[in-house]
Amino acid sequence: MIFPGATLGMLGGGQLGRMFTMAAQTMGYHVIVLDPDQDSPAGIIANSHICAAYDDESALSDLASQCDAISTEFENIPATTLAFLEQRTVVHPASQALAKTQNRNTEKNFIRSQNIATVPFVSIYQKSDLEKASEHIQFPAILKVATFGYDGKGQIVCSDLPAAYEAFEQLGQKECVLEQRIDLACEISVVLARSDVGTITPFPVAENVHVNGILHSTMVPSHAPDALQQSAIEKASQIAEGLGYVGTLAVEFFISQQGDVIANEIAPRPHNSGHYTLDACPTSQFEQQVRMLCGLPAGDVSLQSPVVMINLLGDVWGDSQPHWSAVLEQPNSKLHLYGKKAARPGRKMGHFTVLANDTDTAMQQAETVFSALQ
Ligand code: ADP
Ligand code: MG
Repeated sequence: MIFPGATLGMLGGGQLGRMFTMAAQTMGYHVIVLDPDQDSPAGIIANSHICAAYDDESALSDLASQCDAISTEFENIPATTLAFLEQRTVVHPASQALAKTQNRNTEKNFIRSQNIATVPFVSIYQKSDLEKASEHIQFPAILKVATFGYDGKGQIVCSDLPAAYEAFEQLGQKECVLEQRIDLACEISVVLARSDVGTITPFPVAENVHVNGILHSTMVPSHAPDALQQSAIEKASQIAEGLGYVGTLAVEFFISQQGDVIANEIAPRPHNSGHYTLDACPTSQFEQQVRMLCGLPAGDVSLQSPVVMINLLGDVWGDSQPHWSAVLEQPNSKLHLYGKKAARPGRKMGHFTVLANDTDTAMQQAETVFSALQ
C-alpha cells in the first residue's frame, strides 16, 4: 500500500484531475499534475505542476522520478506515454486498458468480444465504406469520429446515405463509426472501482439526461427497473475485468424502448455522471480512484440521500456571472466550480447537486435553481 505522505502524479489538469487532487490532498497525499496548460483547473491547486506536453519524455521522466504512483483523468493520453511511465513507477489504469478505449471501433469491438450488446455499427475508413454500411445500418444513423470525440462533438446525425457522405466530408474524412440511432427509453451509467486484486465496488447506478450530446443532469437512484440496473452493473463489471482495469471506471448505457441494456461507451477514469458521489456517498469516485491507485481498500459507496446533479456549462454565464444566490441560498444544494477563467458555450465550468427525500423533489428543485441561475 502507498500511504499518505507519498506523492501521486496526475496526467491531465481538467476538472476530473482537480477533484482527484482535492481528494488525494484531503487524505494527506502530495499531488503533481502534468498538463500543457499553464492555468489548468488541477494544475493551479496541485502541490506542483509540470507544464509540458503529454509526450515530452524528459517531463515524463521528471514526473515518474518524483511520484510513487501515477493515474490519469483523460482517455486521450497517448498509450505510449503510460507505457513509458509504467517502466518507471506504479501506473493505473494500465496503458493497454486505456488503448482499448481510445478509438470507438476498438472500444465497440472489445465490448462485443465480451458478449455485451452495442448499438449496430460499422467501421468507416473511407467514403466507399458508407454504401456497404448502409446495407446493415438503417437511417437515421449517427456518424461519429473514431477518436477524440467528446460531449457530442465530432458526431453528425444522417437521415440518408447522401447525408452520410456529406457528414463524412464535414468530419474531415477521418476514421469513423456509423451507428444506428436508437429510440432511447433512458440513459444510465455505472461508475465502479476495481482493485489490483480484482475486487469490484460499484457506485449506485446513475440516470442521465443529455442535451445536444452533453450531459445535463444525473439522478440517483435511477427510475430504471432494478433488473436493468443490475444487468448494467454486471456488464460494467465484466468490462472492467476484461480490461484488467485498476482504478475508477465508468460505462455509459442506453436502455432501449424494448428494455435492452446496450453499452454505449467506456470512460477509463471518473465520469461526469459520478460527480454526485462527492455529496451523496461517504466515498466519492475521486477518493476511490486514489484508494485503488494506492492499493487501499475501497471506501463505503452507499447512497446517503436521493440526489440530482446538474452541469453548469459556459452558456449559463452569458455576458455576466450567474446569479449564484439561487444555488447558495438552498441549504440542501452544493456548488462546485472548476476554476476555469473563460466561460465558453458548451464548456464544463462546474456543477451543483441537490439532495432531497426523493429524486422527483430533488429534480424539480434542481431545475428551478438552474433556471434562476441564468
Ligand atoms: P460522447 O463521447 O460525445 O459522449 P456518445 O456516443 O456518448 O459521445 O454520444 C453522446 C450522446 O448522444 C449520448 O449520450 C446519447 O444521448 C446520444 N447518442 C449517441 N449515440 C446514439 C445512438 N446511437 N442512438 C441514440 N442516441 C445516441
Ligand atoms: Mg458519452
